[in-house]
Amino acid sequence: MSKNSSISIGQTEVKPGTRHSISLPIADLYTGTSLSMPVKVVAGRKAGPVLFVSAAIHGDELNGVEIIRRLLKQKSLQSLRGTLLAVPIVNVHGFLDLSRYLPDRRDLNRSFPGSAKGSIAARMANTFIKEIVSKADYGIDIHTGAVNRSNLPQVRANLDDSRSLELARIFGAPVIINSIIRDGSLRECAAERGFPMLVYEAGEALRFDEVSIRAGLRGVLRAMRHLGMLPETRSRKAITPVVAESTTWVRAPASGIVSRKIELGARVVEGQKLAIVGDPLGEFEEQVFAPYDGIVIGRSTLPLAHEGDALFHIATFKSLAHAESKVEQFAARHAE
Ligand SMILES: [Zn+2]
Repeated sequence: MSKNSSISIGQTEVKPGTRHSISLPIADLYTGTSLSMPVKVVAGRKAGPVLFVSAAIHGDELNGVEIIRRLLKQKSLQSLRGTLLAVPIVNVHGFLDLSRYLPDRRDLNRSFPGSAKGSIAARMANTFIKEIVSKADYGIDIHTGAVNRSNLPQVRANLDDSRSLELARIFGAPVIINSIIRDGSLRECAAERGFPMLVYEAGEALRFDEVSIRAGLRGVLRAMRHLGMLPETRSRKAITPVVAESTTWVRAPASGIVSRKIELGARVVEGQKLAIVGDPLGEFEEQVFAPYDGIVIGRSTLPLAHEGDALFHIATFKSLAHAESKVEQFAARHAE
């Protein structure tokens, strides 16, 4: 097995067999205080792929920060082949403000590939592409639902790219969603360049969810073993995920207090009651029904809604029974 090569991130050259914590400069605070994006580079002695694992591109999405923290404590990294670029907090400004956005209210994940002379979001996106993505062979970007919205652990990837599809399968989240939309996200930017990457989405913003964290860490380790970066173990094989055919949000038919009748991961049939929306004085109640058969892969966690607010994210599958069994298998496995 040949020797790994050195890699330069920022001003630092990381030699094979060493680890470095690197601070990538980003826009200073207006107090005059400097701010930087923390990166841990783990360079294995032996050659292998370069993988980036990133989190908190939306600054309030915290599960991935914990997944990366636990990843960096893994003893198996001592026998790493290739190089791991771990970026637990990409959107440092948003992370400090407990906000999805940047101080100019822009969404970093709508600002890729960015530019050196653009907005604060465009500059941050540009730094991330230039220093991390362009030096990697593969990527895993970790997200959660938004504030007051929780996601069933799921992987989103460009399934037209065979290497992304393969990684998505290996990762072992129960559901895979093929979603390529032109939205300035890192995923779209990667898809355009034929760069294999996946997005893991699990849990909700500003909260830790232990099942989502454990499943995410296992998924990253599985991907690394699959890429030959870590030695194979005798751990149980992951479940084979199912690919969703389509997904839609069910919205509140009226404004009011929401009494939810169904949990994340549940199988629903067309016409099934999902929730009741009522007014605080108990004068009216409206029922919310499932528009078709599917699995609840996301939901609002707030028991209040305005008319039109998204309440349930429902995915449809070729075989619903098959999808349901995968979700149940996953839940049982990660409850251990
Ligand atoms: Zn996100």
